[in-house]
Amino acid sequence: MCNGVCPGTALYAYTVQQAAAHFCPISRDRDRHQRLRDCIHRLWGKDSCVVIRCSACGFGFGHPFVGGDEEFYSILHEQSEYPGWRWEYDVALLHVFNALPGGRVLEIGAGAGNFLTALGPRWEPYAVEASEATRRSLQAAGISVLESLEEASAGKAELFDVVVMFQVLEHIASFDVVLSQCRNRLRAQGKIVISVPDCDAMIRQKVLTGADDMPPNHINKWTPGSLTIAL
Ligand SMILES: [Zn+2]
Repeated sequence: MCNGVCPGTALYAYTVQQAAAHFCPISRDRDRHQRLRDCIHRLWGKDSCVVIRCSACGFGFGHPFVGGDEEFYSILHEQSEYPGWRWEYDVALLHVFNALPGGRVLEIGAGAGNFLTALGPRWEPYAVEASEATRRSLQAAGISVLESLEEASAGKAELFDVVVMFQVLEHIASFDVVLSQCRNRLRAQGKIVISVPDCDAMIRQKVLTGADDMPPNHINKWTPGSLTIAL
């Protein structure tokens, strides 16, 4: 964003211990809390992280600028399930999918596959999913599963009519690489559907409820303006 140098000031500062306690308080599960501490410390390479907001483009981001990796999410998902249905699925159906005749669709971070399986026979569903256990259940649901976006981008791979990313882009530090790979896999006139939390709403949530929007889970905080620049 801002040619790679967003000027801004720190909104929040967190220690590794605070971040680990956010995702799993020591009172809930001491062992899991400690594993999160070790993992977050490894990701940050130090004992603390700040969240900075760019005064020019409005983009918010954690610094160190590193998102959760496979180990982090495997610990996180021990006690959380994928949502059954998101409200933005309905928005995507209404404004994009119902207006098209059908085709090939790729979902990045498909979770339980609830969106893809709801599309019906006009759509040929593909998913990129990092978790191996989740990949198996997606395949069982009749979805073609790719291990990574690089695999989807490989030479003779298919082109897609629509690429969807629901609540994914806020987790990925290398969002520019992901977006460019998506563009490469889209047909001419293809569409990309993205939903992310709104930066200002997350800041209001912190003010109103005290709930943190904690890195390294959400490494990016998007605004309409900063997302437009990224696209
Ligand atoms: Zn900026």
